[in-house]
Amino acid sequence: MKPSWKIFLLIVAIASLSPLSALATSSKPTTPTDESNVKEAEELCGKPTLDDLTQHKVKQSETLEAIAKQYNIKTATLMALNPETRDGQAKVGQTLAIAPMDGLVYRFKNEENYTTVAKKYNIRADVLFERNGCQRSPKVVFVPGAIWKPDPVPFNPAAIASNGFTNPAVIMQTGGYPLPYAVPVTSNYGWRMNPVTTIWSFHSGIDLGASFGTPVLAAKSGIVEFAGWGDGYGNLIELDHGSTGTRYAHLEAIYVSQGQRVVQGQQIGIVGSTGRSTGPHLHFEVMVPTQEGWVALDPAPYLNRIASIMTNLFVQPT
Ligand SMILES: [Zn+2]
Repeated sequence: MKPSWKIFLLIVAIASLSPLSALATSSKPTTPTDESNVKEAEELCGKPTLDDLTQHKVKQSETLEAIAKQYNIKTATLMALNPETRDGQAKVGQTLAIAPMDGLVYRFKNEENYTTVAKKYNIRADVLFERNGCQRSPKVVFVPGAIWKPDPVPFNPAAIASNGFTNPAVIMQTGGYPLPYAVPVTSNYGWRMNPVTTIWSFHSGIDLGASFGTPVLAAKSGIVEFAGWGDGYGNLIELDHGSTGTRYAHLEAIYVSQGQRVVQGQQIGIVGSTGRSTGPHLHFEVMVPTQEGWVALDPAPYLNRIASIMTNLFVQPT
């Protein structure tokens, strides 16, 4: 179940922000030509499949197989889209992303493009291109028809979390920094405008520019308040530290489950680009309780304080 203190990224149309509207109007790049091109592309390609996912909230005694059958897709497709189900379990109350057809989510690696990925999965490149809304250089694509398989070597985080194995948890001493080493901030807390859509949104955390697979660490000891799919947040973990809370979003995989106790520096997941994200990073939030519920504060002072004390502990990857 999602906690009541979850507050999603607040999207506010520019029209409602009168002091800022002049800025947005002057920088609006749209011309009639752009509009018709965009429209044409949309008619040919439709929405990218990854923008066309529906959700399913797991009910009592539902199995992954039953849910998959209900949507006429394979269980493997559910697992491809919902890494937390890769232990084969559907947890009651969990929200699953449902694709309109079988397939998997694939992240382009360096040098990869539609042609190489299409070849890898033995499908047509033009089909792959169209299914992904004819985006020129997407980072993450939906590969229709491909069947997800577990990685042969890396361990399955969800299995460890839910089977209750007392696997020796990886603990890294970084003094409360949510990653094993300091990385650049790619987006700060506060209002920001999407240059293309000119839509203002409030960015309730800080984006840390870490690459795919970087361990995500608990900033403080506490209890896992939420671990699962958080809509725009993608794979999300929320930790309750008592007087504060922290949130870790867009994860590639989650290594903990709701109600679990974690200690500071414990690896709780890995960096990814799930949810509303344009590339791998850790979206990190610091929250405090107020009369209105939990409120996200600017994490910068917190992170700066750690960085100033703990610099010597950060080990850069080789
Ligand atoms: Zn963010």
